[in-house]
Amino acid sequence: MTDSSETIVALATAPGVGAIAVIRLSGPDALKIANRVFKGKDLELMPTHTIHFGTVRDGETILDEVLASLFIAPHSYTKEHVVELSTHGSPYIVEQIIHLLIRNGARAARPGEFTLRAFLNGGLDLSQAEAVADLISSDSRASHQVAMQQMRGRFSSQLQELRTQLIHFASLIELELDFSEEDVEFANRDALNSLIVRITTVLAELIHSFELGNVIKQGINTVIAGRPNAGKSTLLNTLLNEDRAIISEIAGTTRDTIEEVLNINGVNFRLIDTAGIREATDTIEAIGVEKTMQKISQTSVLIYLFDVLGLSASEIMEDVTRLYRPGIPFIAVANKIDLSVNNRFREIKLPADVKVIAVSAREKQHTDELKQLLYDAVTEGKLNTGQTMVTNIRHVEALRRAHHSLQSVSAGLHHPVTSDFLAMDIRQALYYLGEITGQVTTDDLLENIFSKFCIGK
Ligand code: GDP
Repeated sequence: MTDSSETIVALATAPGVGAIAVIRLSGPDALKIANRVFKGKDLELMPTHTIHFGTVRDGETILDEVLASLFIAPHSYTKEHVVELSTHGSPYIVEQIIHLLIRNGARAARPGEFTLRAFLNGGLDLSQAEAVADLISSDSRASHQVAMQQMRGRFSSQLQELRTQLIHFASLIELELDFSEEDVEFANRDALNSLIVRITTVLAELIHSFELGNVIKQGINTVIAGRPNAGKSTLLNTLLNEDRAIISEIAGTTRDTIEEVLNINGVNFRLIDTAGIREATDTIEAIGVEKTMQKISQTSVLIYLFDVLGLSASEIMEDVTRLYRPGIPFIAVANKIDLSVNNRFREIKLPADVKVIAVSAREKQHTDELKQLLYDAVTEGKLNTGQTMVTNIRHVEALRRAHHSLQSVSAGLHHPVTSDFLAMDIRQALYYLGEITGQVTTDDLLENIFSKFCIGK
């Protein structure tokens, strides 16, 4: 997948014009190749973690004045010799210098190849390497926090601990296999049982954390639904504090869906304003309505907005019944309370888990409370607890398989099966846990993970 005898090169900063661009070289000849084009000091004689000013020259032509940062193996990200050239951020200069380095013996890096080398050289395990990608693409405090925790190895060490305990038992059980004629039990069955219970509980928690972890990474889909003129566009604008959606007095003007990102306490919510949910009268509106129902079926949380003056109790009930999905947080929002002191909607019998709040979208009354309600409904106090949150679908699938194998072990302990079956299921569970951190890998798996990285990462 990557030939460690080759020295690779790529732009490490974002492509395009910038104040500075960083070109990264990694591999056994990084210092030698950099030295061939760098004039200033002999980089091969300089100590690690030092920075040197000089010029990069192609023959007699000076391409740029640069700073060369040195990281001598194994004290680098990739654990190989690394030289980072900070150049002026011109795409022309970058291209010229990269070509020059290639002519002097480097090879253009493939996507994710630096991180792949870091993994292969033991600098990071696989889940940490994946967290690097998540960290770079994180766009909110919560997603940043989750990725940072994973990159720093919390999840890995938790898994490692579970594996170590399982390995201990697996080896005792395998020892029994060697003495099978003598009918001995080295592995205490009660102790094994309580270990399995403990581990399956941890795995179940981790699997469960994916529900929130995944939406935090992607941003939480939040549909705002309601009849035309309920004030959906106005609410969207108030929440976002900007005039983005088109507000109109004519019913049914929000024909398509509009999506905006709202950050509440560090969590990104993708607010989706939909066309009215009333029966469609013309075809364009019909498309909008169909789209609304489709969006609602994929949402993580639903805000149902109604005009507190305009709707009767039975109409509100009718809408709620149509929109309500068990398990999806539902917030019923009475709008336009600036016009009315009518609180009768509070007497309507809604499903127990529906939260109700009254606001004025236009006059910005109680809209901050609505934000807090939205945040609480989704996170349920599970954020900032320091608990590991699984965000990666590959990880959660491996966890599910490991959980399944351990359930077989558990079943085998309750309806005694021979040691070899127990050993087999424990080995299976170990295999799946090992897949997450990369103790067990295949080239296909690595290819699949690292090819999704950008070049230079
Ligand atoms: P949508 O069709 O649900 O997107 O509704 P709009 O946001 O376009 O609002 C419909 C009308 O209701 C507009 O004239 C808004 O100014 C008005 N409106 C929205 N929210 C409020 C509110 O809180 N109070 C009052 N008095 N009018 C509002």
